[in-house]
Amino acid sequence: TRDTAIRPTPADEARAVLKRLGVADAALTAGDRIARSPLDGAEIARLADTSPDEARAAIGRATDAFARWRLVPAPERGRLVALIGDELRAAKEDLGRLVTLEAGKVPAEGLGEVQEMIDICDFAVGLSRQLHGLTIATERTDHRMMETWHPLGPVGVITAFNFPVAVWSWNAALALVCGNPVIWKPSEKTLLTGLAVTALFERAAKRHGNVPDGLAALLIGGRDIGEILVDDPRVPLVSATGSTAMGRMVGPRLAGRFARSILELGGNNAAILQPSADLELALRGIAFSAMGTAGQRCTTLRRLFIHDSIHDSFLPRLKAAYASVKVGDPREAGVLVGPLIDSAAGDAMERALAAARAAGGTVHGGNKVEVMGQGAYYRPALVEMPRQTDIVRHETFAPILYVMRHHDLAEAIAAQNDVPQGLASSIFTNDIRDAERFLSASGSDCGIANVNIGPSGAEIGGAFGGEKETGGGREAGSDAWKAYMRRATNTINYGSTLPLAQGVTFDI
Ligand code: NAD
Repeated sequence: TRDTAIRPTPADEARAVLKRLGVADAALTAGDRIARSPLDGAEIARLADTSPDEARAAIGRATDAFARWRLVPAPERGRLVALIGDELRAAKEDLGRLVTLEAGKVPAEGLGEVQEMIDICDFAVGLSRQLHGLTIATERTDHRMMETWHPLGPVGVITAFNFPVAVWSWNAALALVCGNPVIWKPSEKTLLTGLAVTALFERAAKRHGNVPDGLAALLIGGRDIGEILVDDPRVPLVSATGSTAMGRMVGPRLAGRFARSILELGGNNAAILQPSADLELALRGIAFSAMGTAGQRCTTLRRLFIHDSIHDSFLPRLKAAYASVKVGDPREAGVLVGPLIDSAAGDAMERALAAARAAGGTVHGGNKVEVMGQGAYYRPALVEMPRQTDIVRHETFAPILYVMRHHDLAEAIAAQNDVPQGLASSIFTNDIRDAERFLSASGSDCGIANVNIGPSGAEIGGAFGGEKETGGGREAGSDAWKAYMRRATNTINYGSTLPLAQGVTFDI
């Protein structure tokens, strides 16, 4: 089309955007690690890997930086995060575009990801004046008991390709106001956004004027470099976002050295559609959360339970929505579904659809679409399943929605919870009993449970994360900051006797 003819290649556009964001040209030809765009699979740059020695040196610099940064008053640390927020506001268009070019998100979602970074910076700046503990009643006369929260140490951050910049900011904004350096190992599939965010951080640090060297570091590499962070005793906390397979390796290694972990792993998110639901609203909520981001959100809707009484009338409407959605170059107006991250993700989608067919499923859509070069473009798939089989219980990181029927809410809640993952869930209903049952102790077992909203698209004010094989970590809002600090309980005796707790006597 005329539209595509005048558009620059993703690689040319990405290089221009990187330059505007302050990434040095030399960094783009520094080594052998190839950075590609999922839009056409073509090479954008060749980056230099961080060597194991360089990674350990970065941890050493972070350890030194920690000795200074922990003594900087928290609101002054917050001033740095405010400056990062300023840099992000100024760079929003370019960084959002880079997310589109490197992760394949449509522009509204690329910009949304940067907005989420700005939001968490605002949140953390306020938090920098609210890192408070409790004063607790003591049983002893002339005593006072309180808790104090102290900085923890260098925080390792390992991130996935699908939120290439936001997840760094969720961790970094909190870690920095809490007094900790941050060492980031982004996904090997999205290194360019890592370079761009690091350039923005460095500008903010320079403007701040009191930031120790080594406060933020970027490690470029694969799993081996991530493992250095995981195994180094100087790193007391690692926040790792990615597949459950990754968490299964990382979690026990951290536990083995008594380090803390925040694990944000795979999801297998569901929605329950009840007869009383506003079906128009439900249709939009389901379509966005199942097809948005080409099914590559950890919170993507993957399982839909439709009540028997509305199943046959609702399904054709959903099929029509699936058939109408435009798949293509995400830079093109009207496109809602861009490419999968790479051809391996496409292969996994095809394998999952074959398994679903073999288990009695009827697949609508899901076919490959030729758009540009080697880009892995697929129409989202809607799969009618007779029941929740093994493939339905498995997270396939692609736009596949399995649709099943239910007769009553208890049965639907039981099926929803009957998967290994526990990230996000939702119910569409206008019946207050259904809604409250779903949110109750015997309802959804997930870290996120919504009413009349799909499972995806959380805002940063709440704690984000999930249960079971999703890993149990919480990030972003609420009191998630506490994971980035160590708590001390302090008891002070301002009297002249020494009463012991529990009435113990010890007369010498
Ligand atoms: P992935 O597990 O392949 O990689 C994630 C990161 O872990 C990468 O940086 C990778 O290099 C690193 N890594 C892998 N093995 C490691 C090891 N043994 N030691 C140290 N680091 C290691 O995941 P992906 O394909 O990039 O992302 C998709 C997955 O991430 C999906 O399962 C999705 O649900 C999940 N995810 C979860 C959340 C959440 O908040 N729960 C958010 C985004 C993505």
